[in-house]
Amino acid sequence: MKLSLQQHIYFFILSSCLFFVVLVSSILWSIHVVDVAIERERYAHKVENHSNVLKQFIRSENIYAKDHNIDQWLLLEAKFNELLTRTPSLSAEQKTIQYSIESQNKNVLKLFNVIHENKLKKADDRIKQHLKLRLIMQLEAISSDAKQLFNIVQKDLHRVIKRQVTLVLSILSLSLIILIFGAFKLVKIFSTSLNEVKLAFTKNRCGNYQNIKLSNKSEEFESIANAFNEMNTELSATTVSLESMRKIVAERTEVLEQLSKTDPLTKVANRRALFEKGHDEFTRLQRSGSSFSLILLDCDLFKDINDKYGHLFGDEVLQHICFVCNEEIRSIDFFARYGGEEFIILLPESELSGAIATAERIQSSLAKQTITLEGVDVYVTLSIGICQAEKRHGCFEDVIKDADAAMYKAKENGRNRIEVCHNE
Ligand code: GH3
Ligand code: MG
Ligand code: MG
Repeated sequence: MKLSLQQHIYFFILSSCLFFVVLVSSILWSIHVVDVAIERERYAHKVENHSNVLKQFIRSENIYAKDHNIDQWLLLEAKFNELLTRTPSLSAEQKTIQYSIESQNKNVLKLFNVIHENKLKKADDRIKQHLKLRLIMQLEAISSDAKQLFNIVQKDLHRVIKRQVTLVLSILSLSLIILIFGAFKLVKIFSTSLNEVKLAFTKNRCGNYQNIKLSNKSEEFESIANAFNEMNTELSATTVSLESMRKIVAERTEVLEQLSKTDPLTKVANRRALFEKGHDEFTRLQRSGSSFSLILLDCDLFKDINDKYGHLFGDEVLQHICFVCNEEIRSIDFFARYGGEEFIILLPESELSGAIATAERIQSSLAKQTITLEGVDVYVTLSIGICQAEKRHGCFEDVIKDADAAMYKAKENGRNRIEVCHNE
């Protein structure tokens, strides 16, 4: 059964009141029971005392004397009779003794009457003594019964006190155990639920959108958890879209970055990317001495190709040159369009010999692969200038300058050539 916290608290208070009522009732009842037992004890004590008084009286008095006054005896007997009529409630065993005392007392009365009569008739002394002895014996029997009754009642009083104290203590302990358990359970529901809510808030603050999972079901905390979880779902949905937005922006930025470094016609790296890479390599050269070579390629008489076959065909030629060059370079080499019909290859960790070999491969490959336009084969050649970057160069642009000078030399020397820039 699912109870709200309010109902839990009401139930706890109601139980506490109930236990209190039961405890108070048991205490009152125990007081009454003990009172009755004490009353019995007092009664038994009085009966015993009185029977002793009667016995002593008969023993000490000369009841056969002529001047003997029986009024005192009658008064004592009347008091004893009255005492026997004011009997408190007794147990079956005690009642048996009480009946025995009562019947023996009747015998005492009868015997006393006989003695009294005998006294009047001046009976034989032996009979008188016999009767007196019988009277004393009877009174002794009453006294013994009264003593027995007192002992039984006294034992009963101790037993009753013990039983009632045990009962009250048991009810008290049981009530305390149940109430402590109830209080502990209530505190546990509160503290556990509060901790779970607190934990969810803490995790949420760190961006870890987790719902509240309650281990104890209670209406109040469930309504808080539901409200929180709904808010959480909305928040996490917003965060997801923010996350995907970030991803899209990152992707677009990467594409834009790529575009900003790519030549739109040939799809190879552009001048900007070339200078970025060139500056990196040049810094590396200055820092660790790791050298690189640079090849500058210029298409020979490209203007003529444009003029003869058209600008679009010229574009195709440029793409073809890029294709051939990309085929012949290493994966670590960097190929870029420097501008117009000029290209640059940056060869990291490469000396002149490697660069010359690469340039020669490109030249021979280009010579083998003609471009065909309307059935006519068009040959394209390149004038190539090569330079190895060295510490004497002040910057990357100086390396290009040297390669450019070598390339012009190739032009001057008849084009379709490779010229190398030497230190000396
Ligand atoms: P040289 O052998 O001395 O280098 O002669 P050249 O004709 O190649 O040299 P020049 O610098 O006179 O001509 C380069 C031409 O390249 C001029 C320009 O119109 C053309 N050009 C530059 N960019 C492009 C382009 O993107 N597409 C086409 N089709 N032509 C271009
Ligand atoms: Mg040129
Ligand atoms: Mg040219």
